[in-house]
Amino acid sequence: MAVKDYIAPSSVDDAVAVLSEHGADARPFAGGTDLIIQVRERRRQVGIMLDVKKIPELMEYSIGADGSLRVGAAVACARLYNDAEVARRFPALIDSASLIGGIQIQSRASLGGNLCNSSPAGDSIPTLIALGATCEIAGRGGRRTVPVESFCTGPGANVLQPGELLVSLTFPAPAANSGAAFERFIPRNEMDIAVANAAANVTLSADGATFTAARIAIGAVAPTALLVAETGAALAGKPVSADTIAAAAAAARAAARPITDMRGSADQRRHLAGVLVTRVIEKAVERARKA
Ligand SMILES: Cc1cc2nc3c(=O)[nH]c(=O)nc-3n(C[C@H](O)[C@H](O)[C@H](O)COP(=O)(O)OP(=O)(O)OC[C@H]3O[C@@H](n4cnc5c(N)ncnc54)[C@H](O)[C@@H]3O)c2cc1C
Repeated sequence: MAVKDYIAPSSVDDAVAVLSEHGADARPFAGGTDLIIQVRERRRQVGIMLDVKKIPELMEYSIGADGSLRVGAAVACARLYNDAEVARRFPALIDSASLIGGIQIQSRASLGGNLCNSSPAGDSIPTLIALGATCEIAGRGGRRTVPVESFCTGPGANVLQPGELLVSLTFPAPAANSGAAFERFIPRNEMDIAVANAAANVTLSADGATFTAARIAIGAVAPTALLVAETGAALAGKPVSADTIAAAAAAARAAARPITDMRGSADQRRHLAGVLVTRVIEKAVERARKA
């Protein structure tokens, strides 16, 4: 079935009305860098393309008086990393936003699209989880909030119900003495899909010597990106040391449930989860000490 129509509503309510009326036949799109390719390659059938980029709420981002960041679901990655204040306060977000494709893709691709595409290897998802971001979802019954770690339910699947639209992502203000970082492994220095990726968000004691809290997420090593509570627990209350970080990395390896595919074996992915978690914790500590 070919695309029959293109609709560009100017409000969330109008978008929800179109999605509710047409069900699975209508599909929202932001940058289209996933969806248009999927439609062209006949991997997904869409009757009505619902362009969300005319909806102001989805195209705006702002830092609140409390230091939290609210990002409309369709804001392009390049707008975020070109904003010095966002980059200073949320460097892990910029780690992710600045390596999703090349500059042309980054000028279109959104965090909302990356999350709603729900690839296990999506490069923003571990960062969104580590930073404690929440999704604001609009539907006919009103709005609801879901933590990002509960959003994806499987490869290409998520909690969005028919008629629902992701409106925004909200990131709490970074805690004092905290730092966060994201890294991925790809087999070449070009654009590619992550074999494994990971993000860490650590909070240190005022003297920078002890972990007081941590959120660690890993991607491409399970059907969805995972918040690894055991890794966070392995850090909290412990001294910042190679031994502590090694214990956290071991917990991440244990939590991984990878598959073997053309990009890498399950063993390699499990190993990479440990390596990447070590690196992102070290980088997050460095950033926390400079915060
Ligand atoms: C050359 C190339 C390189 C790439 N490199 C990377 C990479 O390095 N890392 C990576 O993670 N990804 C990569 N991607 C994939 C893609 O660019 C990203 O996933 C991107 O963030 C998707 O954002 P988008 O706005 O283009 O999403 P779209 O294609 O517009 O949408 C993606 C999905 O989300 C749904 N959707 C979008 N917005 C909403 C909304 N508000 N509410 C509900 N559903 C919504 C759509 O229906 C669709 O199913 C690459 C793609 C290309 C073509």
